[in-house]
Order: sequence, then C-alpha cells, then structure tokens
Amino acid sequence: MNKDNLDKKEARCDVCRQPVWLDQYGNGEKCANCGWHQSEESVNHPDRAGILNIPSLNSARKLYKQGKALIADLDDFINAYKYYGEMEFTYNDIVYGVFAPKGTVILFESVSGKEIGYFQNIEEFRLKAKINGIFLKELWQDVQNTDFSIK
Ligand SMILES: [Zn+2]
Repeated sequence: MNKDNLDKKEARCDVCRQPVWLDQYGNGEKCANCGWHQSEESVNHPDRAGILNIPSLNSARKLYKQGKALIADLDDFINAYKYYGEMEFTYNDIVYGVFAPKGTVILFESVSGKEIGYFQNIEEFRLKAKINGIFLKELWQDVQNTDFSIK
C-alpha cells in the first residue's frame, strides 16, 4: 500500500459508486468519474445543497442517473448561496457571480466585474434576475457550470 494512503480507506463514490479514497473523517477528493466531492456531511444531510458540492447529494444522484453533469438546479444554487454567501455560474461561456457585499444581492460578470442587477434579497434575485432580458429560471437549463466563488 502506498504510504500516502495509510490514513485513507477505499470506499465507493456516494453518487456513482466508483471506487474513491476517503480520509479518516469520511471526506475525499473529487470522484474521477462523476466529479462529486465526497463529503460525510452530505451523506448525513442528503438534501442540503452547498456543503462541498453545490447540488445536494440527492440532486446529484438524480442528475447522475439522468446522465447529466452535476450542475445545481436554481433551487440548489440558491440554497447553496444561503449557506456559503458567494456563488458563480457559467452561462453562454460567461462566468457570473452572485454575492451581497452590503446586504444587497448583486449579479455581475465575474471577469469584467460589470454589474447586471441589484436585488433586495436572494428571493428577489430568484424571481427577478435576468441576463440579456431572460429570467434566470428560464435560462437555467442552459447553465454550463455552478461553483463556489473563490475570491
Ligand atoms: Zn462518482
């Protein structure tokens, strides 16, 4: 056995069941097959979004079964935002960020910093945010990636 693996144990990915390594806390690296970041807390809270992954464990299992990438739906994205506070998503090859520096939720283009919209709270964001005149809830099916914002 590789020395680096002494403290690790082999397990199965919580989403796709491929072999993965877990540390003593039940956490591991991203699954090479499906991209799920193994998380003991997600196992304990399978409907909670935004722990180490944006989708909840149950959402990720459903997406995997449907052959889809593990991209959070808008509800999981917003729940993850509530938990984490800064999020990103990619649409039409442009990365957008969402955060609330002074209580007002701002939607902006990550690279240019161009601000797209301001919202009183995340619920108003969910209902009213638009990109190029299209409501988020309508364009979300074309979102290419969802992630935590790393600033
Ligand atoms: Zn997997």
